[in-house]
Amino acid sequence: MSVNNEKLQLALEKLKSIYGYHSFRNGQRQIIKQILDGTDTIGIMPTGGGKSLCYQIPALILDGLTLVISPLISLMKDQVDALTELNVPATYLNSSLSAKEEHERVQQIKQGFYKLVYVAPERLEQYQFQQLINQLPLSLVAIDEAHCMSQWGHDFRPSYLSISSWLEHLNQKPVVLALTATATKQVCKDLQQFLGIDEDYVITTGFERANLTFQVKKGLDKKRYLDSFLKSKRKESGVIYASTRKEVEQIYAHLRRDGIEVAAYHGGMSEEDRTRSQEAFIHDEVKIIVATNAFGMGIDKSNVRFVIHYNIPRTIEAYYQEAGRAGRDGEESECILLFSSQDVRTQAFLIEQSDRNADRQEMEYKKLQQMTAFSHTERCLQQYILLYFGDATNKTCGKCSNCLQTGEKVNKTREAQMVFSTVKRVRERFGKTIIAQVLVGSSSQKIKQSQLTNVSTYGLLKDWTQKDVAEFIDILTAEEYLLPAGTTYPTLQLTEKALNVLLGQAEVFVTETQTLKEPEEQDDVFEALRELRKQLSTESKLPPYMIFSDKTLREMSRYIP
Ligand code: ADP
Ligand code: MG
Ligand code: ZN
Repeated sequence: MSVNNEKLQLALEKLKSIYGYHSFRNGQRQIIKQILDGTDTIGIMPTGGGKSLCYQIPALILDGLTLVISPLISLMKDQVDALTELNVPATYLNSSLSAKEEHERVQQIKQGFYKLVYVAPERLEQYQFQQLINQLPLSLVAIDEAHCMSQWGHDFRPSYLSISSWLEHLNQKPVVLALTATATKQVCKDLQQFLGIDEDYVITTGFERANLTFQVKKGLDKKRYLDSFLKSKRKESGVIYASTRKEVEQIYAHLRRDGIEVAAYHGGMSEEDRTRSQEAFIHDEVKIIVATNAFGMGIDKSNVRFVIHYNIPRTIEAYYQEAGRAGRDGEESECILLFSSQDVRTQAFLIEQSDRNADRQEMEYKKLQQMTAFSHTERCLQQYILLYFGDATNKTCGKCSNCLQTGEKVNKTREAQMVFSTVKRVRERFGKTIIAQVLVGSSSQKIKQSQLTNVSTYGLLKDWTQKDVAEFIDILTAEEYLLPAGTTYPTLQLTEKALNVLLGQAEVFVTETQTLKEPEEQDDVFEALRELRKQLSTESKLPPYMIFSDKTLREMSRYIP
């Protein structure tokens, strides 16, 4: 048996004896093998895939120290606590320690008490720390959440940029392992370049999370949906993501009023409050946490049964990472996105208002469009995500909201031709709203000013609402018939696929999604119900409000044909 096979055998024994797991997961074995071989490695595995073990186990086998670079203080503490519980000698150095505590830890580290030391990237720049490291035998440097190094990642942190030059200036050559769940080509290329790692040493496991069920819900009353969803999940743990602090506060207050035990988490809260919320959630004191995307990086709570996105996130990367916090234990879990086009506009506005340069804004805008397209696709949602990340697959999951879509496919070739022909006639100079307005025959100021009433398709879809046409355009965009271009006011362009439809060489089928839509309130039904209530009130001698409130009657009016 070669030395390395022996070491791998040892790794498997550690997996069993320390962690109590029977076998390595996809990717773990190969990454650990390369580390033990002394090869710098990039490991890309989905959230919950088991990245931590890829450096923790080698740390126990290699002679010297393993330094783990990790972006968040709370994350370090959780990981170190978990390791300590398993009797693995690990510690951290960060700003939460008093001067005295820090001094003690440094002494212990020097004396070789620990196999793993966690630090934030900022620490690398400290002179004292550099001196300390130079005195220690350093076997492995693990960079967790390594996508923070790339400007193209969704969570760029400037302090991560100093890592590669820090590594170059070390007086020794430890093995380097960079780990992330985000692997668009661009991020991966950046990491390879920063760390000088050849493509052959990038280990990517598939991105599939077979235990997750994805659902996109459109056009419903979100608060009400949330209420009834949570009612059916009384005992289960879940995360509700919202895009702004204000929205988090509102949902939190709403759920509290309903008597639901819930914690809130966003960047506007004090660190103390945030920690309290997080701990309460992790230790199951509250089942539900409402949070902005500030919450969750690296949090290892295994029994999260659902993740709801109350608002659309900005990128598919962020979406998949956040949704992926469900079901780390491998049990069936749900990921639900509540889509509304207003939220897309809010995100676009936030991008516009940011102080990023124009290129960066353009890129963020494009990513938001891809996320919007995901919300409108008719393809299997899991498959869509996998294709986005470059996992070629034709397998469908069989359980997402698209796979289960029972609506019938209807031929909308004629209507699609109308849309395409409008786009063509306005010479691809206008966006979704204007195209929709032309088709429904709107007499808005803008339409008149731009003399769009003269376009020959004007009013051809006058039986449709503008909202429905806009939604139809979204579907056509998701299916890549149309290509949005530009940032602030994206214009629509025709793709090859659309031209074929215009030429009558291809047909367009879309699924009727009426079933997903909430029925509207009906005034006449409401009046009839009030009448009925009046009769009941006279008969029973109860005041009307004790029978049904007006609000309830309004609700009921949605469901009575
Ligand atoms: P990541 O950092 O990739 O998001 P973690 O390292 O936090 O994921 O691991 C996620 C969960 O999977 C943890 O609860 C971990 O204990 C568990 N896990 C990791 N490797 C294995 C394995 N080989 N067998 C079973 N469970 C594992
Ligand atoms: Mg992790
Ligand atoms: Zn599916």
